[in-house]
Amino acid sequence: MANENRFPIGGDDFNIPMRHRSDELYQFPNFETDENGEFESAAILIRDLIIYPHMITPILINEGVNYNAIQHSLRNYETLVAIYLNDNDQVSNSSFDFLFVGTEIAVGKIMPLGENDYSTLIQGRRRVEILEILQEDPFFKVRARVVEEKAANDKHLQAIMRITKEMFNKCALLDKSISEEAPLIAGSIQEPAYLADMVSSALNINISDRRKLITTINPTNRLKLLNGILAQELDMLELENEIQTKIQGEVDKSQREFYLREQLKAIQSELGEIDLSINELSELKEKVKNKNLPEAAKRVVLKEIDRLSQMPPMSPENGIIRTYIDWILDLPWFETTEDNLDVQHANQILEKNHYGLLKVKDRILEFIAVQKLKPEDSKQPILCFIGSPGTGKTSLGRSIAEALGKKFVRVSLGGVRDEAEIRGHRRTYIGALPGRIIQTMKKAGTINPLFMLDEIDKLGSDFRGDPSAALLEVLDPEQNKEYSDHYLELDYDLSKVMFITTANSMLSIPPALLDRMEVIEFSSYIEDEKVMIAKQFLIPRQLHETGIENLKIHFPEKTIRVLIRNYTYEAGVRNLEREIGRICRKIARLKTEGKSYPTNIEIDHVEKFLGAQQIFDLEAEHEDEIGVATAMAWTDNGGDIMPVEVLVSDGKGNLQITGQIGEVMQESAQAALSYLKSKAKQFDINSDIFESVDVHIHIPEGGIPKDGPSAGITIACALISAFSQRKVRRDVALTGEITLRGRILPVGGIREKVLAAHRAGIKKIFIPLKNEKDLAELPKKVKNTTSIVLVKHMDDVIDEVLLPPEQKPIKPSKTKKSNEE
Ligand code: ADP
Repeated sequence: MANENRFPIGGDDFNIPMRHRSDELYQFPNFETDENGEFESAAILIRDLIIYPHMITPILINEGVNYNAIQHSLRNYETLVAIYLNDNDQVSNSSFDFLFVGTEIAVGKIMPLGENDYSTLIQGRRRVEILEILQEDPFFKVRARVVEEKAANDKHLQAIMRITKEMFNKCALLDKSISEEAPLIAGSIQEPAYLADMVSSALNINISDRRKLITTINPTNRLKLLNGILAQELDMLELENEIQTKIQGEVDKSQREFYLREQLKAIQSELGEIDLSINELSELKEKVKNKNLPEAAKRVVLKEIDRLSQMPPMSPENGIIRTYIDWILDLPWFETTEDNLDVQHANQILEKNHYGLLKVKDRILEFIAVQKLKPEDSKQPILCFIGSPGTGKTSLGRSIAEALGKKFVRVSLGGVRDEAEIRGHRRTYIGALPGRIIQTMKKAGTINPLFMLDEIDKLGSDFRGDPSAALLEVLDPEQNKEYSDHYLELDYDLSKVMFITTANSMLSIPPALLDRMEVIEFSSYIEDEKVMIAKQFLIPRQLHETGIENLKIHFPEKTIRVLIRNYTYEAGVRNLEREIGRICRKIARLKTEGKSYPTNIEIDHVEKFLGAQQIFDLEAEHEDEIGVATAMAWTDNGGDIMPVEVLVSDGKGNLQITGQIGEVMQESAQAALSYLKSKAKQFDINSDIFESVDVHIHIPEGGIPKDGPSAGITIACALISAFSQRKVRRDVALTGEITLRGRILPVGGIREKVLAAHRAGIKKIFIPLKNEKDLAELPKKVKNTTSIVLVKHMDDVIDEVLLPPEQKPIKPSKTKKSNEE
């Protein structure tokens, strides 16, 4: 074994770079093994470092066991072993836990560092197995055995090694603490064990991974373990690198900007352009002088201009202040238009632009007359136009503005949930702006415009504050003289504004708002009215807008009626106007392409231009049926009819109600059923049956949420029909709330409901007696063609709506057959 105890440091076989060589190292210790390959040696105990074979590293020692061990080894020319603590246990505890693998090391001269501190250079030579701790004092002594590190050098291992080298290469590129030569050295290593150890020592990995690597004796396994660690390390490094690059990018960008700004400043001063901003300031001051501003606003603006002048021109705050100043200067503070309160003139304009709407027009003219008579500074009443879409609310608003000579502006509040949308954001917000009210006032340019607030029934409210509270302030004549916007932070006078609000239905307007306003209702149009509006207004306007008014295009009345019935489904005329517009555009296109186009628009042409006619559901049932009755509903779109279906099947007396039904409607269905149960005998129904069947009430119609008590009597009719097997007349529709005793109570929306039923071809309509007054509003044509029956009790209804029984009422035992036919 003579040669084995010679471990040259450096040299070709180890390929350690020159700068790692140290002549200080103690190179040729005595080293003898017994017949089992075991030997005894002094040992140093190392806590958080692992010395792999071939690795050279300085270590710090102080006087104590390690110092003694090294001294002993140097003095006696003996080899030395490094043993490793398995965790961070204190050495003082003699029963410490150490790794079963240590490293035989060479050690250099001890160099004094301070009073008690020394350093020395050590180099790992080979793995040894620690068999026994022989002594702990005055230095550690161990019995150890050199371990074999042979690996089968096959293709598999070659592949693993290649991966190790590649990954290490990548790591070295990303991790600046790995020396540049390291990958080159690794690349040239052929021996697996050495490769693993060399890479392990070069990497920045944690102590527990290092411990695993030193104790994995099989080189193949060690390389596999190492590759896992390398992969993790690479991940981390790549991530770090990505973050680093990003940060670097940002730093570079801001440096670049800074640099450019400096250059810009230099250029500006070179060109004498710094004066420009001074010019700008004086221009602003000039503007302030010429603009009629309230005292407070003037003070604020001048103060802001002052701030601006002290600000470096490139400061971001600059823009914020400029925008604020511009807002104040652009807003109207005193600008007005003169009102034209000539009622005659107003009447002409309203007539010129609108068909019908007699009641509404009357109200408007009264309103104008009152404006003329009342004192200048009395409060402006607020009008609220309620009606379905397309019934002319907006366009009438415009006409009123035209008649009065006012500017017209509008803002939609549909879906506004955030108070800040109305009142603005404080200026401390990035990108803050005034709220919609002030923005719209800027658009108006005068302080007395006609200001339309659309869709106030669609206001939301949530955690961001209640916009309707802000709106209350806008509309309150007591408060709106000093309206405050968060952005403006100046009182703004809204008291000269003529506000008109619009909504589809009165139900969802916050009551406090509704209290402030005078409601004017716009009702749905019947077909004849729509025809007139189309002829007199929509068609001429669309022909004009598409530039084909000189082509002598004619829409026969038959065509208009088809457009109304089978291409639109609405209370107003908005879609009708759109469809007419589409036809006009198609003709305009044919004309410009030099193709032939029709001048008399027949139904065929309509089908060609707009596609096939549609059949809307709004139609009466085609046959008399059992268990289906027709209710009338009042929706945002005006009125509608909807079938109420009842199905009775074997069961245990349960009631199920479906079709997106609200609570009130559910209760009303319960009431109807209770009424029926109490009157079973009267309808020739065996009252035992209620225990042995389930009742299912369904109100279809496209999953639109429905609520309210007005379907009560319709549900009752459908129930009685299903249980007594009497058919419901198909051309009948009903509305009315029902009490448990069968009395019928009044409901809302009569006009819209009756018009819808009329549109759907219903011949007989049942409404509560107490709603009689609502009939006055119905068009004559409807009254003449529909029979309207006023009822006050279910007894008045049953025999009018249900046909006499054909079959025997269903019996409890034989309820298999439901009411389906
Ligand atoms: P709303 O504001 O109620 O939704 P619009 O005022 O926007 O309805 O009306 C839709 C279209 O129908 C507009 O072009 C309007 O001029 C027209 N219109 C509605 N009602 C009438 C009417 N009575 N006479 C003439 N045109 C009308």
